[in-house]
Amino acid sequence: MTITALMPVYPRCGVRPVRGEGCYLISEDGSRYLDMAAGIAVNALGHGHPHLVKTIAEQAATLMHVSNLYGSPQGEALAERIVANSFADTVFFTNSGTEAVECAIKTARRFHYAAGNPERSKIITFNNAFHGRTMGAISATNQPKMRDGFEPLLPGFAYAPFNDLDAALALIDDTTAGFMVETIQGEGGVSVGTPEFITGLRKACDEHGLLLILDEVQCGYGRTGKMWAYEHYGIEPDIMAVAKGIGAGFPLGACLATERAASGMVIGTHGSTYGGNPLAMAAGQAVLDVMLEEGFLANVEAMGERLRSALEQLIPNHDHVFESVRGKGLMLGLKLKAGVEPREFVAHARDNHGLLLVAAGENVVRILPPLVIEDAHVAECIDKLSAAARVFVPASDD
Ligand SMILES: *Cc1c(COP(=O)(O)O)cnc(C)c1O
Repeated sequence: MTITALMPVYPRCGVRPVRGEGCYLISEDGSRYLDMAAGIAVNALGHGHPHLVKTIAEQAATLMHVSNLYGSPQGEALAERIVANSFADTVFFTNSGTEAVECAIKTARRFHYAAGNPERSKIITFNNAFHGRTMGAISATNQPKMRDGFEPLLPGFAYAPFNDLDAALALIDDTTAGFMVETIQGEGGVSVGTPEFITGLRKACDEHGLLLILDEVQCGYGRTGKMWAYEHYGIEPDIMAVAKGIGAGFPLGACLATERAASGMVIGTHGSTYGGNPLAMAAGQAVLDVMLEEGFLANVEAMGERLRSALEQLIPNHDHVFESVRGKGLMLGLKLKAGVEPREFVAHARDNHGLLLVAAGENVVRILPPLVIEDAHVAECIDKLSAAARVFVPASDD
């Protein structure tokens, strides 16, 4: 037998974390890393945040899981809090981002079905999109690396270039249900939706009776310095998938919708055994306790600006490696020079400089720190990046 017990689907690196302290991770061998990856934008409060830890421990001892057969005071309370702080009127809780996307797709199709238009099932999505790994989510992207070998996929998707409004509008026909788009693409390379593009999609939805589904699994929940990335655009979606930061490390996701968009989601249409259990709801409450505190989002914005301007100053000194900075708030991408392989630079920064980053598409390295970082972490990140770039020799230059 050569297969490993843990199914070998990830190219795991040599870091084997066993403990976390704030913005740092400690590996099995005792090495310490500055964590500017935050579990891919998940650990919004860093590692071991006392309020989150205490809340989870207390809830685990009180009531962990009961199923959705029973009334849920915990689910109602968190849903009401999310509704009060977003565009949404109603929330379905999931255990992951891809399930939130799945619920969003079902909600959109069901809306048109309930309105007497079952033929309106096609969802227009975008090149380079990442919506997760369920069959629905991989059907919603046209990236071959996620789809190959899993066909036949779910029919009813069409793909347009991201930030190309005209191309998206040209795909609308009598069978279209709506658009699904990451307000800021994460995995695809930290590509920020342009104002014309995002507001243009909204306008088209209003004109054609379509639904705008935002996937803010990565860019939502405070990541960009606002609670939701759509707030930067002055628009609101009809349906939105969130996850990652929502549980800050506890597996949790949610599909948010307006009352109108959720009109087809009646009793029996959807469900999840674990979804919204009391333990997850406690974690979600603890995260909001911290995030909705006065000054939390302002810190994200301030640290994001500091990090971005420091990165911009860094680039000219290391222009054999870095090309430009992109992103919003603490969802930043460092675009590398053509020929510099992001995974190679990420490995170098990690192994030789104790800095954790994440590779993304379009030759970009993502910087996704915990949202609680302070000046000193920004400075340390810049020092490490600078040191890493100074001695980095791209393999292609050898
Ligand atoms: C991570 C991510 C997902 C999938 O979330 P999982 O929790 O891995 O299922 C979906 N959409 C976006 C934009 C993401 O970044």
